[in-house]
Amino acid sequence: MKRLVGLGFDVIVEAGAGLGSRIVDEEFAKAGAVIGKASDAARADVVLKVRRPSEAELKGYKAGAAVLATMDPYGNEAAVAAMAKAGVTAFAMEFMPRITRAQVMDVLSSQANLAGYQAVIDAASEYDRALPMMMTAAGTVPAAKVFVMGVGVAGLQAIATARRLGAVVTATDVRPAVKEQVQSLGAKFLAVEDEEFKAAETAGGYAKEMSKEYQAKQAALTAEHIAKQDIVITTALIPGRPAPRLIAADVVASMKPGSVIVDLAVERGGNVEGAVAGQVVTTANGVKIVGHLNVAGRVAASASLLYARNLFAFLETMIDKETKQLAINREDELVKATMLTDGGKVVHPNFAGPNL
Ligand code: NAD
Repeated sequence: MKRLVGLGFDVIVEAGAGLGSRIVDEEFAKAGAVIGKASDAARADVVLKVRRPSEAELKGYKAGAAVLATMDPYGNEAAVAAMAKAGVTAFAMEFMPRITRAQVMDVLSSQANLAGYQAVIDAASEYDRALPMMMTAAGTVPAAKVFVMGVGVAGLQAIATARRLGAVVTATDVRPAVKEQVQSLGAKFLAVEDEEFKAAETAGGYAKEMSKEYQAKQAALTAEHIAKQDIVITTALIPGRPAPRLIAADVVASMKPGSVIVDLAVERGGNVEGAVAGQVVTTANGVKIVGHLNVAGRVAASASLLYARNLFAFLETMIDKETKQLAINREDELVKATMLTDGGKVVHPNFAGPNL
């Protein structure tokens, strides 16, 4: 907030916006903001949000206003078209390229890191045994076995957190580059390492969708392993596609009663058969499948701190320091990668097209 004021902005904060992170309105006011209502967005040249604006909200926005938010555009093409129609210049923060200059603006990383941490905390609280091995006069509690499926930013943090809590950790991914990272965190790597696996990373560092044959081989290998685990955390995503199905119902049924699965991909269709978005489901054989939504939001104050820094860092690149006016450089690669709509049109190459 202070930094926004420092850039020369007049800042309005929606009343109560910070309460989820225990920041009261007075603190925003002290930092130089005016406390207002959501409808004050009508006066704004720049609107900073967590989620994309609804059609009703858009009706009040100024044409030409820059809107920065996580836009979740795939599968929501009508909402993207509505932002174009409203004439706003909308930026999808989750499309920030993963290059060195943009690391400070990378919302996927800042939020996935927290989600990976919180997934282990949620698993530990649903699990009715201790995670570390405990050797006591009364006997020994064995260490919990934790398996992490999908080792991007969230998966790496889940491995590190489970290790800090003393669990015995294994992990799998379809990208070969991950093996060394898993091992460097003190966990074991498990995967079908065939020719397809060796080529399974895009130039952008993301996973490719694997062939049906590979998925079957990988499923057989992991099924046997999962039956012996106490906690499984799944984080596997493929950009622009539904989440890959990694655990079938019969594999869930093979786990011991009291075991816990946390499906971090539940909002994108889920990695686990039987996971329900927003719920903790207990299966007939006593396995809990945790499907919390917006897991980073469960550590709200940390999520908000990092998200605000991400937004500020990007916005700062779009301000002319002399005139203190918005000056979007449409040739900048960060702008090109994230801009969804501009001048009344859908401009992002992944969405612009005759069907919209
Ligand atoms: P993501 O959220 O897109 O996916 C999570 C993980 O699931 C990925 O590791 C992916 O390989 C894996 N996955 C997909 N299908 C799978 C399957 N069938 N079985 C098992 N695992 C599967 O990934 P992410 O966290 O956004 O990270 C993607 C890449 O971007 C990583 O290489 C990461 O290191 C890199 N990255 C780079 C930067 C940067 O340079 N600034 C920042 C953040 C992340």
